[in-house]
Amino acid sequence: MFHLTGFSDCGEKHDPKTLLWRCPCGGLLNVEEYEVNFPIEEIKKRPATMWRYKEALPFWDSSSVYEHITLGEGCTPMVSLDSDSSHILLKMDYMMPTLSFKDRGAALLIAKAKEIDVKRVIADSSGNAGTAFAAYANRAGMTCDVYVPANTSPKKLQQIKAHEATVHAIPGSREDTAAAAMEAVEKIQVFYASHVYNPFFYQGTKTYAFEIWEELNGQVPDTIIVPVGNGTLLLGAYYGFKELLRCGIISNMPHFVAIQAEGCAPLARAFAEGKDQAEPVVNSGTAAEGIAIGFPARHRQILKAIADTNGIIITAPEEKIEQAREELAKKGFYVEPMKAATYAGFPRYLSEYEQNQNERIVIPLCGAGIKAK
Ligand SMILES: *Cc1c(COP(=O)(O)O)cnc(C)c1O
Ligand SMILES: [Zn+2]
Repeated sequence: MFHLTGFSDCGEKHDPKTLLWRCPCGGLLNVEEYEVNFPIEEIKKRPATMWRYKEALPFWDSSSVYEHITLGEGCTPMVSLDSDSSHILLKMDYMMPTLSFKDRGAALLIAKAKEIDVKRVIADSSGNAGTAFAAYANRAGMTCDVYVPANTSPKKLQQIKAHEATVHAIPGSREDTAAAAMEAVEKIQVFYASHVYNPFFYQGTKTYAFEIWEELNGQVPDTIIVPVGNGTLLLGAYYGFKELLRCGIISNMPHFVAIQAEGCAPLARAFAEGKDQAEPVVNSGTAAEGIAIGFPARHRQILKAIADTNGIIITAPEEKIEQAREELAKKGFYVEPMKAATYAGFPRYLSEYEQNQNERIVIPLCGAGIKAK
């Protein structure tokens, strides 16, 4: 059984069958620890989707609601950067049904919504979460409204509309978009499919860790590099490895290296100053708009997770982002600028921090270049 619990400040428990997306006290919600299992022989026999880890996902045993919603998400390949660097692995999350890692969280969250018979959802996004929610909500027979910043890539808007969601383009900042979505959620009392606030989203991104573990034949990489805006991939991956550790299936955590864009790096700043919480910053402009979050709601959890893995947060030099994107394309990987930001931060990590030549590093490529402006 699992509950939703408030984070740190309050500790109040809530029924998970709820439209609640944050605690009435204003605090964040988290999924309480519940029993998970990894029956590896069974897992190996199942289809190559993230649902092969269903004993570690927050559904009742008999629940098969996901079967009606899945688009085959998960089990993305992991390939080496090139033949000279077989210890640097790229996890290709851009090979997802809607072309980003957000499908992991969106598929799971929409399945949870379906369990409680939700008919309508509202999402807000700088793009990729919006396309993911639009696709899965429509497939699940739900009406979907997606709030996006007015400067969102036209290709993403087209995709959202193609999945029959209603687009609300909001002028101003990413925060203005979130505020508009929350206002609508409160006004008409619908399910807020928020990748930031709804804790079930992270139960989906957890599968990122499970797949790496299985793809490495039960081993743990030394280092996991992750882009961080709101931290939905970082926290999910962290929870995933933590669960493997808790079950005694792995014996240590990988180090987490979080990458922020230089032009908007509240977490990197807090980390550098040794703080356990971030202060809001103003986005001074970056090529990696998708990770430009001035004040991530889960900042304390992100900083805590990084510290727990002896990890670090570094910034990707702004002038290197486009160059990194070109370099990846030369090797065959065509990704979004914000994904390239992860790769652009990587040389800085190597030059300043790499522990040894053969350190095994996993870098996600989680947004397809074809969707960007
Ligand atoms: C959402 C997204 C990110 C940033 O993830 P956060 O959850 O904001 O940390 C990075 N890359 C891609 C392709 C994304 O879709
Ligand atoms: Zn509370």
